[in-house]
Amino acid sequence: MDTAQAGAVSTQSISFRIWRQDAPDQPGRYEEFKVPYRKGANVISCLMEIQRNPVTVEGKRVPPVVWDAACLEEVCGSCAININGRVRMACSALIDKLEQPITLEPMSKFPVVRDLAVDRSRMFEALKRVKGWIPTDGTHNLGPGPRQSPVDQSTMYVLSTCITCGSCLEACPQVTMDNDFVGAAAISQARLFNMNPTGKLNSEERVRSLMGPGGVQDCGKAQNCVKVCPKEIPLTTSIAMMNRQVTKLVIKDLFSQEEEKKGHSGPG
Ligand code: SF4
Repeated sequence: MDTAQAGAVSTQSISFRIWRQDAPDQPGRYEEFKVPYRKGANVISCLMEIQRNPVTVEGKRVPPVVWDAACLEEVCGSCAININGRVRMACSALIDKLEQPITLEPMSKFPVVRDLAVDRSRMFEALKRVKGWIPTDGTHNLGPGPRQSPVDQSTMYVLSTCITCGSCLEACPQVTMDNDFVGAAAISQARLFNMNPTGKLNSEERVRSLMGPGGVQDCGKAQNCVKVCPKEIPLTTSIAMMNRQVTKLVIKDLFSQEEEKKGHSGPG
C-alpha cells in the first residue's frame, strides 16, 4: 500500500448525537455531527475531529464539544462517558464496533461541568473517607517492609489497577446524585490497603469508615459494577470481603460493650 492509499479517507461518514450543556445549571440538548470515516477510529479521535471543525449536520457552527481525556490508553480513567447508553472509556471504544448514530452523554451520577465533562470529586471524597492510602512517617528510608505472599501480591496488584474512572458508580443503582454511598471503587481500595502488611495497622479505621450510612451495607448487590469495570477488578468480591470485615467488627464491638456492662455491674 502506498502512502496516499494508507492515508486515504473513505467517503463514508460517522454519525454522532452528542449531549451539549453549556454550564452545570443550564438545560441540556443533543447536537448531531458527522465526521469522515477512518478505519480504526475511536470515539476520542472522532471528538478531536469535531473539535477541529465544530459544525452540526444542519451546517451550524457551534462551540467545540468539551470532554476529558489524557492518556488515551485506558490508564488515566478520565474519558469515561456513556456511549450508546453504556458507560465505558471513550479511548478504547472503537467506531467499527458501535451502532450509529453514536450517542455520547456525560455520566449521570456526577455533576456535569460542561457537555461530556463531569466533576468526579465524589470519588476522591470517598477515597478520603475510607483512608485509601498508607500513612508513612516522614520520607526517611523505612527499610524493607514486611514480607507479602505471592498470592496476596497478585490479588493486590489487580486491585491497585483502579483508574478512578467512575464507571462502577455510574452503573450502580444504589449511587444517586443526592446520596453519599461510597461505591465499589473506594470499597475495593479499602480492601487493597487492608491487605497491605503496613496498611493493616490502620485497617480498623478503614472498616469503621465503611459502617453506617453511605457505607458498604448500602450495596444492593446488583453486580453492575463488576460488569463495567474496564480493569476487570473483582469488585463484588471486594464488597463481600469488606462486608465481612464490617460484620466482624460489629460483633467485636458488641462483645466489648457487654464486657464493659459486666465490669460496671460487678460486685463493689
Ligand atoms: S473499580 Fe473499575 S470501574 Fe470503578 S473506578 Fe476503578 S477502574 Fe473504574
